Amino acid sequence: MRYYTTKPMTGGVLFKCVYCEHTVTTPDFDEAKGNRRTQAAAAIHQHAKELHANQVRAAESIKPGCYGVV
Ligand SMILES: [Zn+2]
Repeated sequence: MRYYTTKPMTGGVLFKCVYCEHTVTTPDFDEAKGNRRTQAAAAIHQHAKELHANQVRAAESIKPGCYGVV
């Protein structure tokens, strides 16, 4: 299950929460700490699990495995 969509932007990639308008961009993260896209994806997942716990639970309980591993 992915909790974000991605969009190319100037200087990086924009990650948007699928449940709200929350976004992060790869330039927000420090390359020295690892792959920026990985960090951005992790940040959105964290956001979704904290702010959209109900939707995340519902999405994961309906047809498990339907989304596959992306
Ligand atoms: Zn959100």
